[in-house]
Amino acid sequence: MSAETQMQSSEHKAKILDGKATAEEIKAEAAKSVERLKKEFGIQPCLSVVRVGEDPASEVYVNSKVTTSEALGIKSEHHHLSAEITQDELLSVVQALNEREDVDGILVQLPLPKHIDEGLIIEAINPEKDVDGFHPINVGRLSLGQPALAPCTPAGIIELLERNKIEISGANACVIGRSNIVGKPMVQLLLQKNATVTICHSRTKNLADVTSKADILIAAIGRAGFVRSEHIKQGAIVVDVGMNKVTSHEDAQKFFGDEAEKRIEAIKKRGFTLIGDVHQAEADKIAGMRTPVPGGVGLLTVAMLMKNTITAACRRRGITL
Ligand code: NAP
Repeated sequence: MSAETQMQSSEHKAKILDGKATAEEIKAEAAKSVERLKKEFGIQPCLSVVRVGEDPASEVYVNSKVTTSEALGIKSEHHHLSAEITQDELLSVVQALNEREDVDGILVQLPLPKHIDEGLIIEAINPEKDVDGFHPINVGRLSLGQPALAPCTPAGIIELLERNKIEISGANACVIGRSNIVGKPMVQLLLQKNATVTICHSRTKNLADVTSKADILIAAIGRAGFVRSEHIKQGAIVVDVGMNKVTSHEDAQKFFGDEAEKRIEAIKKRGFTLIGDVHQAEADKIAGMRTPVPGGVGLLTVAMLMKNTITAACRRRGITL
């Protein structure tokens, strides 16, 4: 490496792919659509969120979904049910929401208590109201390339890439993680956009050899700072789906580079700071662009839920906006 290249690489810092700005754009468009639905069709889209038990993370997520809906003019309902509810009782709640003409979107916040079969509950939701896009009918439609309600997180990532003029067609895209809510639908959506897609998981051999060929690398693993410089191609677009907590000052020092002091302050105040699956300090030196955590994919997920609710409201009534 020449001295000049060395100097360039030590000065390089990945640009930030701003999830917040894209999420605000999507929400502003959603608010306009709601306005039109009210004025032109006399309809106010309605999102029903069902939460079971007292999981603190679920409470935060549900509150954010309800507050965002209200801010955009979408009617929202929060059905908070006891952790003791039986499976049959929960099925009846879902059935009642399916039957209500005024409810456009139904979301059952996961995880559910252990005595309830999540798959069964998801399958009970009317696919036309399944704004999370987890129902087998929507999963099937997505993989067939048919109109479907797609899961919000991967759908938001596509919006983020496209609205930031990142070429997906023909790109080598690699997804780390094969969950039903992120990894698998992400692969389907990238394929639809004509990327060449590789999917990696815990059994992938020589992970870095595979991931370091990706022009677009998407990490959905659930392990703090797992993606290191050897996993990233020079100049790659790195999308960090992970949401993990860092509680020690040493880890903050290790992961956050020149942001470490700010993060340590957050740990002192709240007891933790959020980190994704990507080692931020190392990614900054090699990636072309990366999403921040917080301020990246998480905000897009909520924005896409709003978009899916409006899509569901329109499709069910045969309305094209
Ligand atoms: P998950 O269901 O636990 O799946 C994790 C995936 O990572 C699995 O496919 C697993 O492989 C793979 N994996 C684990 N260790 C690995 C390793 N050492 N090398 C390669 N792959 C490995 O998680 P998830 O629900 O997809 O969520 C992933 C992360 O995204 C979590 O941090 C979650 O909190 C976050 N998340 C964020 C949002 C958001 O809105 N920002 C939304 C959803 C999820 P196997 O299949 O082989 O086990």
